[in-house]
Amino acid sequence: MDCLFCKIARKEIPSDIVHEDEKFLVFKDINPKALFHVLIIPKKHIESIDHVELQDKELMGELILTAQKVAKEKNLQGYKLAINVGRKGGQIIDHLHLHVLADL
Ligand code: 5GP
Ligand code: ZN
Repeated sequence: MDCLFCKIARKEIPSDIVHEDEKFLVFKDINPKALFHVLIIPKKHIESIDHVELQDKELMGELILTAQKVAKEKNLQGYKLAINVGRKGGQIIDHLHLHVLADL
């Protein structure tokens, strides 16, 4: 798949990886908007929240649980989760990703 985040998931493009498991990769945002700013991507290519299907419902739950896991691992006291959807929603990369932001 010719997609930046698929290439990052396949390690064809380097990233600063914070956490990885079978289904997700968590890496630092290249242009952080907070002191702590990582992106959680499913390794499966899903274009956006608008492209999520019923069969992805478990994966979407696990996406949130991965955010919780990273927050615990990094001992975040509080954090914000954001998903931009579509160009008018601020989405630039067409591979679903969850922003995790925290001021340390
Ligand atoms: P979006 O606006 O699509 O929700 O967010 C895309 C995010 O990906 C932006 O915050 C941007 O800084 C980040 N980003 C874009 N290209 C790269 C890259 O090559 N590597 C990393 N680590 N982050 C990227
Ligand atoms: Zn992709």
